[in-house]
Amino acid sequence: MDKPVERYALLGWPVAHSLSPPMQDAAFSAAGIEATYELIAVPPKDLAAVMTRLRLSDYRGWNITVPHKQRALSFLDSVETAAQAAGSVNTVINRDGRLHGCSTDGYGLAAALKENFGLVPEGQTFVFVGAGGAARATSVYLAAQGAREVVIINRTLSRAETIADAIRRVAPNCRVRCLATTELDHIEDCLQAASVLVQATSLGLHENDSLPLPSEILPKHLPVLDMIYRSTPFLVQAAARGCPVADGRGMLLHQGARSFELWLEQPAPLERMRSALQVALAQK
Ligand code: NDP
Repeated sequence: MDKPVERYALLGWPVAHSLSPPMQDAAFSAAGIEATYELIAVPPKDLAAVMTRLRLSDYRGWNITVPHKQRALSFLDSVETAAQAAGSVNTVINRDGRLHGCSTDGYGLAAALKENFGLVPEGQTFVFVGAGGAARATSVYLAAQGAREVVIINRTLSRAETIADAIRRVAPNCRVRCLATTELDHIEDCLQAASVLVQATSLGLHENDSLPLPSEILPKHLPVLDMIYRSTPFLVQAAARGCPVADGRGMLLHQGARSFELWLEQPAPLERMRSALQVALAQK
């Protein structure tokens, strides 16, 4: 008898813009797996119902994106430690109706930092600008992986402090500092000692967005990774100062590859996924 086609999906609101389907389709095809990866648009009021429907269906797993990454935690039977600390999940594995949640964003950022700048977390100082869900998931992961220090800079200081509390719980030996984006003198000092600056605000997605930080305060040697998965004015200005730069596509690739590995329990065909992502980005 033929093996049934395996079903995977992405839940979000909105989801139509997602680059995950071409990337996961390429992975399934390279691995010789008959599978589909669907986009399921889920308004917030429907999340519980959709998770229940998928739990009882033949979907083997799914990704979760904005705005459901935090709330989805409450519909799971078990959650890996990293996702608990991150306070969010982006990958669900459905094992015969039991749902297990994972967060692959931190893994994705760590892999992108290694690939682009040769950086491993141990002993490094990570400076984040932004304190939303992505900053939280990734900074907590890096702290748990042995970072020496994490600095969180944000417009709303209380959000940075919430992340700092989560880091202290998970990695008591990691030093944590929070700064408001207005504290430019302190930020400039911090950047002198930083291993990398991670841009994790949503600024740069839209044409008239302001810069998350003035580029003049960037030390010329400082690697800068912007989580937005195409070039942004901030990255252009950082590169013009001589900083090594990377956009967020590496993080997107590696978080997706890790989801594939969690679902299929086999290595992801990374280069095929990378090529599919490049093609999809070029078509945007
Ligand atoms: P959130 O909405 O949770 O957080 C947004 C962040 O941006 C907050 O720190 C917020 O500050 C800040 N911000 C928004 N508008 C302004 C403004 N006008 N001035 C100053 N700060 C502002 O978003 P996420 O954390 O989910 O995502 C952040 C970015 O990361 C997005 O661009 C997203 O596309 C990208 N991302 C990329 C991924 C990848 O794989 N490459 C994965 C996940 C996210 P405040 O707290 O003060 O409101």
